[in-house]
Amino acid sequence: MHERGHFRVSVTKDDLVFASAHFITFAGHRCEGLHGHNYRARVTIDGELDEESWLVFDFIELKRIMRDLCAQIDHLVLLPLEKPRIHVTPGEETVAVSVDGKPRYVFPRRDCALLPIPNTSVEMLARLLADRLRAALDAAGPHRLTAIEMEVEENVGQAAVYRVELREGVR
Ligand SMILES: [Zn+2]
Repeated sequence: MHERGHFRVSVTKDDLVFASAHFITFAGHRCEGLHGHNYRARVTIDGELDEESWLVFDFIELKRIMRDLCAQIDHLVLLPLEKPRIHVTPGEETVAVSVDGKPRYVFPRRDCALLPIPNTSVEMLARLLADRLRAALDAAGPHRLTAIEMEVEENVGQAAVYRVELREGVR
């Protein structure tokens, strides 16, 4: 009988890239111009071993889900919907963006990803991807996962990690 331990499984960045445009507003009046990054994601999941398959979670399935999540925002302009200073108005064909009440951009709608986050920082992108991964894992069926850790890197050495516990009290 083995001790009931915990395992961590990770899928690394090289596979999980999305090249997207964004701009960020900072505290005060500073606002970056539109620019792009080759973002890279890395995900680690914690969980108990499934004692039929001897897996925490199927790598292939995890990679497939993560590739889908990256593809959803790849080659798009990432726009935050929950930032009071940035007003995003989707029309039929275009999306108008104003910052601090001043018109700033108009994008073709098909080129935009309208995201339920307050800023397109790597922190918020990591949280968004973790939330979406969690929903996809839950939809895939019962699992024994206890935590998700999502890292998003926008430049080499510039990354944020978001960790969410999936079951309270499970250690
Ligand atoms: Zn940036």
